[in-house]
Amino acid sequence: MSVLIYAESAEGKFKKVALELASYAKKVAESLGTTVTAVTINASDVSELGNYGVDKVLKVSNDKLNKFSAKAYADVIKQAAQKEGAKVVVLSSTTDSLYLAPIVAVNLEAGFASNVVALPVSTSPFQVKRNAFSTKGFNVTEISSDVKVLALAKNSFGLVEASGAAAAEDFAPALNDADFAIVVESVEKVTGKVTIADAEIVVSAGRGLKGPENWGMIEELAAVLGAATACSKPVSDLDWRPHSEHVGQTGKPVAANLYIAVGISGAIQHIAGINSSKVKVVINTDPEAPFFKVADYGVVGDAFQVVPALIAKLKEF
Ligand code: FAD
Repeated sequence: MSVLIYAESAEGKFKKVALELASYAKKVAESLGTTVTAVTINASDVSELGNYGVDKVLKVSNDKLNKFSAKAYADVIKQAAQKEGAKVVVLSSTTDSLYLAPIVAVNLEAGFASNVVALPVSTSPFQVKRNAFSTKGFNVTEISSDVKVLALAKNSFGLVEASGAAAAEDFAPALNDADFAIVVESVEKVTGKVTIADAEIVVSAGRGLKGPENWGMIEELAAVLGAATACSKPVSDLDWRPHSEHVGQTGKPVAANLYIAVGISGAIQHIAGINSSKVKVVINTDPEAPFFKVADYGVVGDAFQVVPALIAKLKEF
């Protein structure tokens, strides 16, 4: 018996969420008195997982899996879980993993909890704390099935380094043509910029910026901070910015360490998608803007004065 994680990778390299998952699984495994196994798909160097507590890696190498197929990927994870006799299977909350997790749960006849934000409250009975109501509250969910599938919310646990080496084992699960009936083509735009999914810091701007021609200072602030750029929904609807930057309830979720909102009012649908961010900063001319109610730090001021001043100050460091 072990705790199994699906360690997601892109172009052979592990995503940060995979290392967070490993850190989390290590603690869960310790509380259950067991070890951590990771299943990887076409990852080149799996040794990094050992630095975050993984004891064993089931390494799947199959060119057909270069394209995402939910059925095939879920089958791989299911077979890995069965091979290891895993009682707890943990996935992350990326778009792919959130697609996979319920399928894996059905295949394993397991109970499933998404949006998990902490270590199990109790392992017997098995109870986990989850985000609820678009991160406005929490609930504790009990899973009574023999096998449990969890999806860990991004940036909810962090990275915890561990000493140790992961033993790698080649694993060739049985897959058939039906597994590849639907494959998803993904087009990754290479811009050289930090993506919202991987960003520690996100600089986001809204309609308060008046027009797309004013985004230069947002790009510059993001570059100085090593941050990703994002925007509110109307901004992408107006084509001021690409839809890939739209964050919020109907856009990408953001769980960054620092989220800076410039000229964004803080409508409930926007906040719902960024509330998991650790520190929230707002820059807005209107002191009554709802964003101030959820922000950790707020600047009441004109973005066209505050942002250039902030950039100048940051450049001094
Ligand atoms: P506005 O509401 O126009 O706010 C602009 C802000 O800029 C104001 O607070 C103003 O005081 C400030 N400002 C103006 N000038 C300056 C200046 N010079 N310097 C600094 N501040 C200035 N929205 C999302 O963002 N994400 C979503 O996922 C999303 N999903 C939605 C889903 C549904 C079903 C619905 C109905 C709505 C959704 N919305 C979403 C839209 C949401 O309700 C708001 O309309 C939107 O977030 C407002 O965007 P904004 O803050 O950029 O613009």
